[in-house]
Amino acid sequence: MSISITRREALAGLGASLLAPLATGARATTVAKLGTREILSISDGAVTVPAGMIARDRTPDELARTLRDNGFTPDVNRMPLNVSVIREGDNYIFIDCGAGGRFLEGSGKLASALDAAGIDRARVTRVLFTHAHADHFWGAVDEFDEPLFPNAKFAMPHAERDFWMAGDVLQKVPEAFHMMAAGAQRVIKQLDDKLATFKAGEEVAPGIAALDTGGHTQGHVSFEIQGGNDRFIVLGDALTHPLVSFAYPQWMPASDQDGERAVATRRKLLDRLASEKLRIIGYHLPGAGAGSVERKDSAYRFVAG
Ligand SMILES: [Zn+2]
Repeated sequence: MSISITRREALAGLGASLLAPLATGARATTVAKLGTREILSISDGAVTVPAGMIARDRTPDELARTLRDNGFTPDVNRMPLNVSVIREGDNYIFIDCGAGGRFLEGSGKLASALDAAGIDRARVTRVLFTHAHADHFWGAVDEFDEPLFPNAKFAMPHAERDFWMAGDVLQKVPEAFHMMAAGAQRVIKQLDDKLATFKAGEEVAPGIAALDTGGHTQGHVSFEIQGGNDRFIVLGDALTHPLVSFAYPQWMPASDQDGERAVATRRKLLDRLASEKLRIIGYHLPGAGAGSVERKDSAYRFVAG
């Protein structure tokens, strides 16, 4: 703990709010105001993965052509990691926690982003998880295996906890996800009795409801936040790619555990987001991940902003 305090104090002396985001690539952006609530997007960094993971059910040629024709690089997919934060007065509710220090290069920058933005970790009252994949969940504990937020209550979907803690989880996920399973179990055990569960459909905190958006993982949820007369949706990984998730919702990303269910979830969600003109943050959508959804031809498009 003394390390982060020293770093925070040192950064404050350097005018950290201006300098540190440039130095680390980390960023905190105000995305929306809902009554007395403010929605922020805070960056945990970005990771680069093979573009082939965007759709496992397409030929490499078709995928590469589609990406290139729409201005995306056909080889790699650079994925930002956008943690959503709800500020109410001096208190904060976090949705997801970044990757921590044990995942891919370029991730794990949340703690330094919070220091730079002047957000006191002791003021975080709750942390809600969309799912237990590494890039959302492993950052819940720091380099000393202590909770990143000392005073927070943590909560994850019940179905998600059950799935990853099951004795036969390694038989249920491909070998490439065995590391994910081990990491999910480690962090669940480290959070111990600070970690509660909730069910999709429940109001998990005042004015914050968990929406069933399963498919990406078994228990994946998104969150609907109310404030004033407005609503806002934090998607997690229900929609991950700014082109493919919107224009080709039926394509199947390699990271979706249940491909068919994830497709059904995307179609239903996109229809609602476009019809109700709801603003969103997607964990891996570009920039701060914020925007909205419009209908386009027989599908949809992501409108950043
Ligand atoms: Zn993710």
